[in-house]
Amino acid sequence: MSSEIAPAPSHHPAPEDLLEYATGTGAEWLSLLVACHLTFCERCRREVAMLDEVGAALMDAAGNDDADDAWVGAAADDAAARISERTTADDAGAAGGMPAQLAGTVPRPLRPYLSEPGGRWRFLAPGIQHVPLQTPDDDVQLRLIKFRAGFVIPPHGHEGLEWLLILDGDIGDSHTGTRYGRGDVCCSDVDKEHSQDVSPSEPCIALVANLGPLIPKTMLGRVLAKIVKI
Ligand SMILES: [Zn+2]
Repeated sequence: MSSEIAPAPSHHPAPEDLLEYATGTGAEWLSLLVACHLTFCERCRREVAMLDEVGAALMDAAGNDDADDAWVGAAADDAAARISERTTADDAGAAGGMPAQLAGTVPRPLRPYLSEPGGRWRFLAPGIQHVPLQTPDDDVQLRLIKFRAGFVIPPHGHEGLEWLLILDGDIGDSHTGTRYGRGDVCCSDVDKEHSQDVSPSEPCIALVANLGPLIPKTMLGRVLAKIVKI
């Protein structure tokens, strides 16, 4: 376990995503991504705790005991339980028999979704490895992806939402002109065309959710999309 204190994330889930998480109304893949972000982010943990309190107070004010129980039992407690399981990514590899190659990069909420005990990096394309993750959501492809240092994802658009949560290293986005580091969320919607580049100094590991295929804009991108099957 590292004693080094990592900087707090600069890019967070949207307020509505935190609300869906706190109320237990979001899709499982989204709740999972938010839960993983919370392991890095004190600010969003406080936000979710506040939303829990507001929800419970609203139910109290309405004087509806049944509804209050429903809120606390089905939503807020569930979110609180997930948050209470939070751990830093550094802690995550310290238990559970994670193999060395994944140790230190898989937040605890993610572990039950690994398709095999411990998970294992698999070749996806030159410079890209992945670990597929299983969720009950049919319309989303969720996986851990490791890009080699200096890797460039060619210009592309999206047929559906894309969510990246950076677990290690960093990646730049041509659309926002921003670099995203550990714990940061980078969200790309259908109208966003961009390329992405991994820092030349270290690999980047990200939790990636795609709700539709990529739309490559170059020949290299089309080849890559065929190999990667996104
Ligand atoms: Zn946050």
